[in-house]
Amino acid sequence: MDCNKGAPESLCWLNGEIMPVTQARIPVLDHGLLYGDGVFEGIRFYRGRAFRLQEHLHRLSDSAAAIGLPLPLDQEALAAAVADLIEAFAVPEGYLRLVVTRGEGPLGLDPTPCKRGNVFIIAAQMALVDAEKCRRGIRVIIAATRRLPVDGLDPRIKSLNYLNHILARMEAGNAGAQEAILLNARGHVCEGSADNVFIVRNGALLTPPVSDGVLDGITRRVIIELAAQAGIVCREQTLAPYDLYTADECFLTGTGAELIPVREIDGRLLKQCPGSAYTCLQQQFHALIRKDLGSTNQ
Ligand code: PMP
Repeated sequence: MDCNKGAPESLCWLNGEIMPVTQARIPVLDHGLLYGDGVFEGIRFYRGRAFRLQEHLHRLSDSAAAIGLPLPLDQEALAAAVADLIEAFAVPEGYLRLVVTRGEGPLGLDPTPCKRGNVFIIAAQMALVDAEKCRRGIRVIIAATRRLPVDGLDPRIKSLNYLNHILARMEAGNAGAQEAILLNARGHVCEGSADNVFIVRNGALLTPPVSDGVLDGITRRVIIELAAQAGIVCREQTLAPYDLYTADECFLTGTGAELIPVREIDGRLLKQCPGSAYTCLQQQFHALIRKDLGSTNQ
């Protein structure tokens, strides 16, 4: 994620009030901070409107339900908060980070004394699609750090626990790469540190199934829909590192990343970058945004 520092000023909606992000404060006894006990969403807005907001709010509500965290606001109130924050933000395109924590409680893991979660939404500007990355593709590595096992923390829960993803990203940085792909405990491909993985092999678009331990990404869902519309065969399939190394093309998808082509994996150059499936789906993705969010209200 490339957030531009400085202008326009990042804003925060915190429990009902909008303020500069530098003034927003969370108590140190919040269990979100102490234990990573909370859930979040990353949401893009374009043309003054949030993209796939209902899907994000639905996933947030499922994540919260899965960890037994009552959301302090219903979906309608959250959507209103998002709209108010986008309206207050200086420009019509950017990134939102919506976080719900368990709230304040005494030290100790027991969540029951935490009576009310804190809700905050940060609005920040993001470099639009990084043209250079889209043109040249990025270098990725397969990280030694593994994705948390499905029976440890279900990957469909978008929780505040991202430490192993951060460790994987550090491995990428140390190797001079821009992103890391995490495997599951069985050595199968899961996803990037903050994005889903697609490859093209033998004319088919392939992505690992959620049951292999990946986040059910909203951009991933959009790409699967768009591939069907474009007549590209797309399947969920368990993948090994071998499948990545020998793929015709590979790209990553996510709210922050949108679609980024991969040029090189662990030093192996892919056959096409950007490939034809990537180029087609990237165009379709931007056409869909224009179609869904056509009218600008700023
Ligand atoms: N996997 C992980 C681990 C992520 O953090 C993200 C970003 N939320 C994604 C995949 C992509 O998901 P989405 O398209 O919903 O942003």
